[in-house]
Amino acid sequence: MDALSRDFFLFLSKNRGLNYMARRWGKSVASGTIIGGIDFESSIPHIKRLNEKGIQVTVDHLGEFVTDIQVAKERTQECITTIQTIAAEKLDTQVSVKLTSLGLDIDINLVRDHMRDILREATKHEVLVTIDMENESRCQATLDLFTELKQEFKLVGTVIQAYLFRSENDLNDLNEHQPFIRLVKGAYKEEASVAHTEKQDISENFKKLIQKQLETGIYTAVATHDDSMIQYTKQLAEELNIPKDQFEFQMLYGMRAKTQEDLKAEGYNVRIYMPYGDDWYGYFMRRLAEKPSNISFALKGLTKK
Ligand SMILES: Cc1cc2nc3c(=O)[nH]c(=O)nc-3n(C[C@H](O)[C@H](O)[C@H](O)COP(=O)(O)OP(=O)(O)OC[C@H]3O[C@@H](n4cnc5c(N)ncnc54)[C@H](O)[C@@H]3O)c2cc1C
Repeated sequence: MDALSRDFFLFLSKNRGLNYMARRWGKSVASGTIIGGIDFESSIPHIKRLNEKGIQVTVDHLGEFVTDIQVAKERTQECITTIQTIAAEKLDTQVSVKLTSLGLDIDINLVRDHMRDILREATKHEVLVTIDMENESRCQATLDLFTELKQEFKLVGTVIQAYLFRSENDLNDLNEHQPFIRLVKGAYKEEASVAHTEKQDISENFKKLIQKQLETGIYTAVATHDDSMIQYTKQLAEELNIPKDQFEFQMLYGMRAKTQEDLKAEGYNVRIYMPYGDDWYGYFMRRLAEKPSNISFALKGLTKK
């Protein structure tokens, strides 16, 4: 990855003026291309189209780093309403959440209450909720809360990032709870004191974690667009006699649609992470930081009515 463009797009992702402008033209640029829509209702036709192809979805209401209690409450209610709509519409969809959008940076008791409200509703409708992993400084708090919630609720999972040095130990610690884990490379800019920064080192650790988690027998998600990681997972599963229904591939909405369909046709479980909401700009800039050629999604969106 070109470090300069990565830093540049990560810088842009935090620019308030651009964020405000993006919300104003968000509808035409982003809807149906990199996000499902600016609200959950408008994402439903896109979810149904994927479900018809046998591809499952996890939806995420965009927004993070909330510092206002009222906003955190609104985000919680949004999540609960989304779970109710998933059930009413019979969508094959799970939900992903970011703890900072539900109040992690305000008060741990507040975010715990919000997560319990969400998970009670999720249990009622049998919808799994995955807690996304944010930056390293929030990793311990996220895993602590996940472990606590997992003892009360069955349908909750979380994410482990291969770029963090701590991740193998985290998997060891989490193992006794039989957790649903999504394995990813990691999307944030982290210090070299806590994370691998070289692409090859991240990939090596990713492979190690994939093997470790698949060997536990616990259902696991491998979330990547990287062909070499997909190939590695397929080969490993074959060598270790791990059935295809013990894991799934996950990709972001709008990326590698052909690969998603090919994997499905080969008999693998495929789930698409579909963000929705008007706060899409920071999300999009992080995707550009990973792969500047993703700009084509925005250009495609601009020409769409
Ligand atoms: C479903 C899902 C959920 C995620 N959740 C989290 C989370 O909770 N926390 C977190 O920190 N991160 C999360 N991420 C992001 C993740 O950490 C990575 O930043 C992101 O997926 C990029 O890494 P990669 O493995 O996809 O491949 P990259 O390292 O971006 O790319 C490697 C190679 O893959 C190929 N490739 C990649 N993208 C494309 C493309 N669009 N078209 C064609 N070829 C391509 C290219 O050959 C490229 O060189 C999530 C990712 C996914 C897919």
